Amino acid sequence: MHVIVLGCGLAGVTTAYFLREQGAAVTVLDRASGPARETSFANGSLLTPSLADPWNSPGVFGVLLRSLGREDAPMLLRPKALPSLALWGLSFLRNSTQARYESSFLNNVRISSYSQTVLATLLQKHPLQFEHAMDGTLQVFRKQKGLEHGLKVAHFLKQVEIRHRALTREELIEFEPALAPIKGDLSGGIAYPDDEVGNARLFCEALCDVAKNSGVIFRFGEQVLRVERRRKMVTGVITARESLEADAYVLATGSYSPEFAKQLGFRLPVRPAKGYSLTLPMIEAGPRPRHAVIDDEIHAAVVPLGESLRIAGTAEFTGYDQRINPRRIANLLALLRRIYPEFRIDEQRMKSWTGLRPMTTDGMPILGTSPLANLFLNTGHGPLGWTMACGSGKIVADMVLNQRSEFEARAYRYDRFRWGRK
Ligand SMILES: Cc1cc2nc3c(=O)[nH]c(=O)nc-3n(C[C@H](O)[C@H](O)[C@H](O)COP(=O)(O)OP(=O)(O)OC[C@H]3O[C@@H](n4cnc5c(N)ncnc54)[C@H](O)[C@@H]3O)c2cc1C
Repeated sequence: MHVIVLGCGLAGVTTAYFLREQGAAVTVLDRASGPARETSFANGSLLTPSLADPWNSPGVFGVLLRSLGREDAPMLLRPKALPSLALWGLSFLRNSTQARYESSFLNNVRISSYSQTVLATLLQKHPLQFEHAMDGTLQVFRKQKGLEHGLKVAHFLKQVEIRHRALTREELIEFEPALAPIKGDLSGGIAYPDDEVGNARLFCEALCDVAKNSGVIFRFGEQVLRVERRRKMVTGVITARESLEADAYVLATGSYSPEFAKQLGFRLPVRPAKGYSLTLPMIEAGPRPRHAVIDDEIHAAVVPLGESLRIAGTAEFTGYDQRINPRRIANLLALLRRIYPEFRIDEQRMKSWTGLRPMTTDGMPILGTSPLANLFLNTGHGPLGWTMACGSGKIVADMVLNQRSEFEARAYRYDRFRWGRK
């Protein structure tokens, strides 16, 4: 069987690898010059089942309304994006009831934990180098109310076997001495020992090499213009250079997936949510940050990654605009200073980056079958595409090849969306 995978970010490269592992002939097409050049390039690096909560928590409507016009808002809605969000936005809000939020949260944790298992197995076979660390993550809280909510979430997660350890302010500083300068601002923390971190771009590049060596054909610099159909089947892909055919197709083009779905006559409830990261060289000055720290109140994650420190966060609904806004960068730098006020920031060597998270309206990815018999979907991972990458790639590869999966993936199917149907 020959499969064409569209897109070579985390979703595309993992699917291609698992397809090939099970014997398929695979061709991957991507318009970029290499793997992971878009949203998978410099994300927050967190592999965190503990943070798998969908963004549409109850009350999200108020958060979005209050963000209008506020450059420092963690989740910012720009009025110009409103027309493209109309139907999507309604569905996003409809999914923000307590019951739906909890159900999506648990489903996200399930696939995130599965993904960790799949990654661990993959690494036994191929010890890839990608600045991987398995030291857990640390959530810190400034206000007592935030800490209480965090503990409630931690207890909720016990039902899906996510372990945690509550830390007093003193224990927190013992665990992460680099936080000592802000000790007085913190009310406590929660350590999640099973979380991991790793550099998503390095992972994609390394896995791409493995897949290439096993026979996967990667065609970079290949802009896909159209996907064609006849009746209920995809018949081919037209790129800027030629047309290609296969037995099956996997759509893994992240935030750009809806445009191909539209060409094929169905709607994908995926919209881009822009985020930023800054990567700074780790310069010794006081204790070096050792753990990934998630600051709940200011909605930012600071992650030691090899010889660098990365801070990622903020979300902007602003369409497909990928320009770097200096005010958002300044905002992220200010957040970093609130967590590590003594960290030496070398702005000359700092790398700023922005990416578009492919967000669905219920916060869960879309995996597997589509309205067309030979088209499969691996998209819509939003802020969790790294955490869920290996599990999603394996699940989708199993479905394409009609193999029995060890994971029950019905909850992530496309047909859960009513508004997507025609
Ligand atoms: C600031 C930020 C922080 C994040 N932090 C984390 C984190 O800590 N942990 C986590 O789990 N997730 C995180 N994420 C989310 C994660 O990065 C994404 O969910 C993931 O990268 C999506 O991968 P993807 O393969 O679906 O999309 P992409 O990586 O965007 O890949 C899609 C590919 O499709 C290609 N493509 C698109 N259109 C075409 C076309 N017409 N022709 C050919 N090729 C095309 C693109 O070139 C691209 O390579 C973060 C995201 C952001 C923005």
